[in-house]
Amino acid sequence: MLIGILSLQGDFEEHKEILDKLKVKNVFVNTRKDLNKVDALIVPGGESTTIAKLLKETGLGAKIISRAKKGLPVFGTCAGAIVLAKKIIGKNGYSLKLLNATMERNPYGSQQNSFDKKIKTSFGTISVSFIRAPKISALGKNVKVLGKMKNLPVIIREKNILASACHPEIALDTKLHKYFLGMIKS
Ligand code: GLN
Repeated sequence: MLIGILSLQGDFEEHKEILDKLKVKNVFVNTRKDLNKVDALIVPGGESTTIAKLLKETGLGAKIISRAKKGLPVFGTCAGAIVLAKKIIGKNGYSLKLLNATMERNPYGSQQNSFDKKIKTSFGTISVSFIRAPKISALGKNVKVLGKMKNLPVIIREKNILASACHPEIALDTKLHKYFLGMIKS
């Protein structure tokens, strides 16, 4: 099993650190050729406008869409979650539209308003960071909520697509990645 980590922009190194900690083979994905080799893909946090622009320009976006529609498990954190969503509130030109949800960009304010939190999920309590996180403001009917903060959904899943508004990879919590690895095997 080989996990791809999209490395066009963002915190791809932190995802690698988690996968290395879990002793799972992984590779950075920058081209369509890289994408062909992987059994699952992580889209990191960063700046969704930049990631989206590069996905469009390189043609990688179209390739991810076609592989995801055939079942490739894809996991996005923060900006990565925004890029996967069908609808985005706030400036953004392009998204993969693989996840039937609406993401509102930057509702918590700027970088200075970042915070760490422990949140309850269907697979235990996890430590995460909210860094200019999106708010998941609407969900399609096939979308399951796996984790909440107060009453807001923050970790969601629609079939083979997993998205988290917050970062477990920065707090170095491996539970969400373990859950994702379970999605690949099943
Ligand atoms: N606010 C950023 C965006 O809209 C996401 C921030 C992050 O990934 N931590 O792209």
